[in-house]
Amino acid sequence: MPLMHVLVLGAGLLGVSTAHFLRQLGHEVTVVDRQSAAAAETSFANGGQISVSHAEPWANPGAPWKVLKWLGREDAPLLFRLRADPALWRWGLQFLRECTPGRTRHNIEQIVRLGTYSRSTLQALRAALGLQYDQRTQGILHFYTSLSEFNAAEAPAAQMRALGCERHVISADEAVRIEPALTHARPQLTGATYTSEDESGDAQRFTRALASACAAAGVRFLFNHQVTALRTVGGALDHVEVTDATGRYQRLRADATVLALGSWSPLLAQPLGLRLPIYPAKGYSVTLPVADATAAYQTSLTDDEYKLVFSRFTTPAGPDGQPGEDRLRIAGTAELNGHARDLNPVRCAAIVRRVEQLFPGAGDLSRASYWTGLRPATPSNVPLIGASAVPGLFLNTGHGTLGWTHACGSGKSLARLISGLAPEVDFDFLGRAAGPRVYPAPAAPARTSAVHRQG
Ligand SMILES: Cc1cc2nc3c(=O)[nH]c(=O)nc-3n(C[C@H](O)[C@H](O)[C@H](O)COP(=O)(O)OP(=O)(O)OC[C@H]3O[C@@H](n4cnc5c(N)ncnc54)[C@H](O)[C@@H]3O)c2cc1C
Repeated sequence: MPLMHVLVLGAGLLGVSTAHFLRQLGHEVTVVDRQSAAAAETSFANGGQISVSHAEPWANPGAPWKVLKWLGREDAPLLFRLRADPALWRWGLQFLRECTPGRTRHNIEQIVRLGTYSRSTLQALRAALGLQYDQRTQGILHFYTSLSEFNAAEAPAAQMRALGCERHVISADEAVRIEPALTHARPQLTGATYTSEDESGDAQRFTRALASACAAAGVRFLFNHQVTALRTVGGALDHVEVTDATGRYQRLRADATVLALGSWSPLLAQPLGLRLPIYPAKGYSVTLPVADATAAYQTSLTDDEYKLVFSRFTTPAGPDGQPGEDRLRIAGTAELNGHARDLNPVRCAAIVRRVEQLFPGAGDLSRASYWTGLRPATPSNVPLIGASAVPGLFLNTGHGTLGWTHACGSGKSLARLISGLAPEVDFDFLGRAAGPRVYPAPAAPARTSAVHRQG
């Protein structure tokens, strides 16, 4: 296997995990990010779930009706804002095509296979490097407050079991036995599903710990560097144009380049004629210090009705006198409305109201921190991993709702593909003989001095 210099664009979950596995295979690796630290954008404050067994994509046969019902509702779990944005309408049409039973089944299989591989890769990495990121390995409990939704839970649970996941339908009383903090909410509960093998943990702490390990192993990080363009010569990637912290332009050249810029990946790929089907889906999270440890949940939870996930991050006090921390993270909702990251107070209030309703007194609301992040969502929820149509450019992007769940498996698989090694999981990687999914744009407009791929 020839050793190469590989540029990784983006220091989120996907960029850093790719950099780690590339370095492990012996390559020289440089990571570029516009922020001053790893995991400062979408990987900053997500829901924390490693949820292999709750992998139903947004696009499913019931979705079109639900999306229509939610149109214009500010607190809707999935809000499609009607605006004059051709990328949004294109994405919406592709989303509808993914809602057939056949496409949904195919997408679930892809997502679960990658998720199962990714979770075991994360576990091996955690053990090998001794990573601490407030992980909890006591499963995920998905609870229902609507009888009809609970009655419909058996079919997806059976499908997950057929794919090798342990997902069991349980009664409301069993749910409270697993998570006693649900006692207060017991009258509203209609039932639950439980997946003991799933996990949770703070994605930002993980990414930063892994980035430190990468730096110690010789990976070079260029923070405060903005990627301004990808330039091709003769149809192949030639160099990456960046501005550094002082605003000076630089050209970065490597043998291979990985695009892992999350929701910004399509904007950089488009001038090369690559139309990546990724649209930003804005989500919210609220982080609260624990106020009453006995009222706070221990198990990672999913609230089916409000489409919210709940994780608890407990950091023990450090040996050097560093104080410990105990935090509740609640995350969810999706709004398709471009790249804006403004906080909508209606959405923030809806999340806090639900937390208080379910777990009164558990979190300190006076010290709540609110956050939004832009999930790089594909219409199918299946990420884009592998070689693009531009020689020298690889993709590891479009992980949508499951970027934390899929990070380690995606990073390891792409590092192996770039190295000419077979991936260890059966997945539709880009540019491979079985089911290549390459996204050329029709007639990309000619711009600046770059050589463009048309059609
Ligand atoms: C509210 C919410 C809850 C979520 N909950 C979960 C969950 O429970 N489980 C789960 O599996 N997933 C979850 N996710 C999804 C997960 O967080 C994302 O899929 C993942 O963070 C995407 O990682 P990324 O590396 O692709 O993108 P990012 O983390 O956004 O990384 C991209 C990097 O590229 C950099 N960048 C962008 N443009 C440029 C440029 N021009 N020049 C230089 N640098 C640039 C950015 O600074 C950033 O660091 C959630 C997401 C949200 C928003």
